[in-house]
Amino acid sequence: MRIGVFGGTFDPIHIGHLVAAQNALYAGRLDKVLFVVANLPWQKEGMRELTDARLRYLVVSEVLAAHPGLEPCELEINRGGLSYTVDTLFELRQLSPEDELYLVVGADAAFSMHTWERSEQLSTMAKLIVVNRYGYPTPIDILDFADPLSAEMPWLDISSTDLRERFKNDRPLEFLLPREAILAVRKYGLYRD
Ligand code: ATP
Ligand code: MG
Repeated sequence: MRIGVFGGTFDPIHIGHLVAAQNALYAGRLDKVLFVVANLPWQKEGMRELTDARLRYLVVSEVLAAHPGLEPCELEINRGGLSYTVDTLFELRQLSPEDELYLVVGADAAFSMHTWERSEQLSTMAKLIVVNRYGYPTPIDILDFADPLSAEMPWLDISSTDLRERFKNDRPLEFLLPREAILAVRKYGLYRD
């Protein structure tokens, strides 16, 4: 199978993530895309308060239940500690060596991939799909990836950072993230002061 590996904090998951994954699925002719929920994203450590990984994962799961082809993945949460994509690719490869892995990243993430843990190993374990992201040019040369695929999507200026503010300030949320996500966020009492 051709598997997309889409990592993120998903704090919370939103329409930008879903449209990105769906277009990566199409661009790479993938069988499915795994939403890999980071346990402790090392880049965000200490920068801001992070929602408990299990709760972020629950919200992602409740949203993806309605979308065959998009699957929640809890490998990084089960592994615990800081989350490194390189370890996740290694684990996925061990779990099913016959799968072909495609790392899916937005353009903002693609730009900083050279700073990731053991980044030089990434291109030996997976192919790369870059999705355009509003506000960021899409990089061309990324590490040693040969012929990265680009997945086109309409520009959606949506971020979890903005959504957390919207939840906190009671500003409109409808259509920026799936209704299941809004309901789950409220159910678990996230993003309140
Ligand atoms: P935050 O504002 O907290 O950083 P985020 O909206 O950037 O949240 P992440 O969980 O950091 O979401 O991103 C996970 C992945 O999804 C990254 O590869 C990122 O580039 C991609 N992504 C997120 N939002 C969009 C969007 N609106 N369009 C395209 N790609 C996106
Ligand atoms: Mg981000």
